[in-house]
Amino acid sequence: MPELLLAYYDVPLESPLKLSSNGHLDLIIPKTTGGHKPYVIGASLNTQYEAESIHFHWGSAETLGSEHEIDNKRFDIEMHIVHRNMRYPDMNEAKKHPDGLAVLAIMYMFGRPNAITRTVNPKFFRGSGPRLNELFPKLKANNFFTYNGSLTSGNCEESVTWIVFAQELTMTKLLTSIFSSIQDSNGGHLKPNYRQIQPLNNRTVFYRP
Ligand SMILES: [Zn+2]
Repeated sequence: MPELLLAYYDVPLESPLKLSSNGHLDLIIPKTTGGHKPYVIGASLNTQYEAESIHFHWGSAETLGSEHEIDNKRFDIEMHIVHRNMRYPDMNEAKKHPDGLAVLAIMYMFGRPNAITRTVNPKFFRGSGPRLNELFPKLKANNFFTYNGSLTSGNCEESVTWIVFAQELTMTKLLTSIFSSIQDSNGGHLKPNYRQIQPLNNRTVFYRP
């Protein structure tokens, strides 16, 4: 399995970042200040996939909120960075094709950052010129699982190459106060939003150690 290349992930984005509530709450990824769209290539992807949006899955006080389990372990928070195959003009078209989307998934547990575990930089959400890689400091980006699967909301289209990083990061609970302070267009607060574990249905899951 080739390495995964994260292009322009370390370059400041235009700010402020915008939120869009389209079924679920998405953080729209703008161009960098240099005018480039961050993208990924490598692993089993044979073309460039442009970064479109970010969203999070979380649980409640009683439940963990990740959508993937690794070795039967569930995590507090799972972040998805959604990428569109550049061969397709927009998300609606990309969703119709098995190679339409690539989603990076990163697992977080609540905790305090220390020398080994790293945390999301809360400045990402508040500061100017945020960089995408501030969302996963020191992530071992070449240690991942990958398989062909589906979106986990809406019509769950079978259009996603999943890339699930094996390393668990930490997130301070402070950040969840940001989630819980966000309201949807009806003025409601966001609720736990993870899909239950699904059967593998004979898929092959590849692991890059
Ligand atoms: Zn998701």
